[in-house]
Amino acid sequence: MVEKEKEKMENKNTCIGNKREAPLFAWPWENLNNFKACILYLLYGPWVAKVVYAIYREEFNFKNSDSFWCFHILILFGLRALIHQLWSVYSNMLFLNRARRIYQQGVEFNQIDAEWHWDNYLILQAIVASLIYLSFPSLANLPMWDTRGVLCCLVLHIGISEPLYYWIHRLLHSSTLFQQYHWLHHSSKVINPFTAGHATFLEHILLCTVVLFPTLGTILFGYGSIGLMYSYLLAFDFLRCLGHSNVEVFPSKVFEAIPLLQYIIYTPTYHSLHHIDMRTNFCLFMPLYDKLWNTINTKSWDLQREISSRTNSRVPDFVFLVHVVDVFSAMHAPFVFRSFSSIPFSIKPFLIPMWPFTFIVMLVMWVKSKTFVYSFYNLRGKLHQSWAVPRFGFQYFLPFAAEGINNHIEDAILKADKIGVKVISLAALNKNEALNGGGTLFVNKHPNLKVRVVHGNTLTAAVILHEIPKNVDEVFLTGSTSKLGRAIALYLAQRKVKVLMLTLATERFIKIQKEAPMECQKYLVQVTKYQAAEHCKTWIIGKWTTPREQYFAPSGTHFHQFVVPPVIPFRRDCTYGKLAAMRLPDDVEGLGSCEYTMGRGAVHACHAGGVVHFLEGWKHNEVGAINVDQIDVVWEAALKHGLKPL
Ligand SMILES: [Zn+2]
Ligand SMILES: [Zn+2]
Repeated sequence: MVEKEKEKMENKNTCIGNKREAPLFAWPWENLNNFKACILYLLYGPWVAKVVYAIYREEFNFKNSDSFWCFHILILFGLRALIHQLWSVYSNMLFLNRARRIYQQGVEFNQIDAEWHWDNYLILQAIVASLIYLSFPSLANLPMWDTRGVLCCLVLHIGISEPLYYWIHRLLHSSTLFQQYHWLHHSSKVINPFTAGHATFLEHILLCTVVLFPTLGTILFGYGSIGLMYSYLLAFDFLRCLGHSNVEVFPSKVFEAIPLLQYIIYTPTYHSLHHIDMRTNFCLFMPLYDKLWNTINTKSWDLQREISSRTNSRVPDFVFLVHVVDVFSAMHAPFVFRSFSSIPFSIKPFLIPMWPFTFIVMLVMWVKSKTFVYSFYNLRGKLHQSWAVPRFGFQYFLPFAAEGINNHIEDAILKADKIGVKVISLAALNKNEALNGGGTLFVNKHPNLKVRVVHGNTLTAAVILHEIPKNVDEVFLTGSTSKLGRAIALYLAQRKVKVLMLTLATERFIKIQKEAPMECQKYLVQVTKYQAAEHCKTWIIGKWTTPREQYFAPSGTHFHQFVVPPVIPFRRDCTYGKLAAMRLPDDVEGLGSCEYTMGRGAVHACHAGGVVHFLEGWKHNEVGAINVDQIDVVWEAALKHGLKPL
């Protein structure tokens, strides 16, 4: 589905009036898409094998090996990719830097897809490096380090690379070249470290030459070293990412103390201004050249000072208070892998080696972390944020951890109240009945809250109920005395649907039954065994159900569910529903991450419930038991505001 959506987005990109057919626009390996890494394996596989074999036979000589160069190319490839990744991690850590973000919007899915192959240029540069080596085999004899090379490299960079890039960049902004090539780089609405690599094949060939002057030049002058190659290329990528990081990282005091620095190093604000006003700030890294040729944006330093000294960020209007599900899903955070976060969560092989590290992070979070801002999007001019309680799912089942978790939730609610959030919606286990009575605890303890506390489950119930076909006259319900189970049972009974409520707690059953209008009470039937549902084809699962229990369902049964995590679908002859969810309105902005296993743009129904509460401006808290009379009201309101069932 994601691939399909991606394709759709890519088609959209081609339709914005810009050309993709110019010579050398596309990458030669563009059609390989996700298999492009194979190019590297094909190129370097034989050499890697040769070196490994030599090491194995203890014939490998560090200095004289004619194969070691390819190792350097591969290691450099990895390190350069790592620099982009680390910058991406940093610039997505909203809890560290949201006040100093330059563009306030979020990166959307279509931009993430467009920038997906940002690493193409690394492949290109690895190939170019290999070709150079094959032409000059003496390069294998480069020393590890030569200090004279640093000066030589700097002179070549400042004297050739900087002005060369400046003029190439200015030419790329001429109307023909911009429409044919450079528009692609500028099509990224919200710049971020991966935007640095997002350009056409031709532009990266040109960038290659910019890089070649200081590197190959220093070698030809006789001062080259392996250490210098690493230093220059890594510094080059670091600064490119810095310029596109969308977070102002320099304290303005640095430039006040050393004014000359303004001409030596650009800032994230400086390059962001180029993306806003394309007639200014063309330089590679050194504003000196913009000064020299009179293209410096006069706002560059005032804006830099303003952003770098910001301490307060915009107050969100709506907050969804989430928690981490488990160690694997923690790696689905937008600040870990942006591209992984932009597709629905599932366990991927690359997560496995990172599990131990993430486990340690979890322990550190348990001891030290506070609730933090996790992600955001905008809807109709209002800011919606997700805040994460630093607790994982399993911790909610540890009796001794309950108080600590409630303290975190309470702190978050009080903070939201203090800063002026309108609605805070409790996700998943943060509204667990056993933990805090679905939020009741906090509302009772702080009766004067201005922020509305919402569990959003009224809409969850509505979504589940609307999935049940109108002609169904009998359902089997497990978890039937839970918050959702009770509401579903009462709602269906009022519509004269017979509900077989699986529960051993007769007292609780009778209590619920008495809540139904007199004439509807007969539709609620207590059952104590799964066998009672042998002839019922509509099962609503609110409690974990084993394969054995699932086998009591007749063939063709549909399992609706509100159990977290969802049951494992064992029955091939039956169908299984997904967790209740809704699609956010089409005009949502800045959305670039998926909510756990939800598809793009979809959120859990309780999240949607909170959004509806906010959009409607309701003044009541939605805590504790579900008000069955509100189910249709919330559903209609959700549809009215453009939320859609999946
Ligand atoms: Zn440009
Ligand atoms: Zn740029």
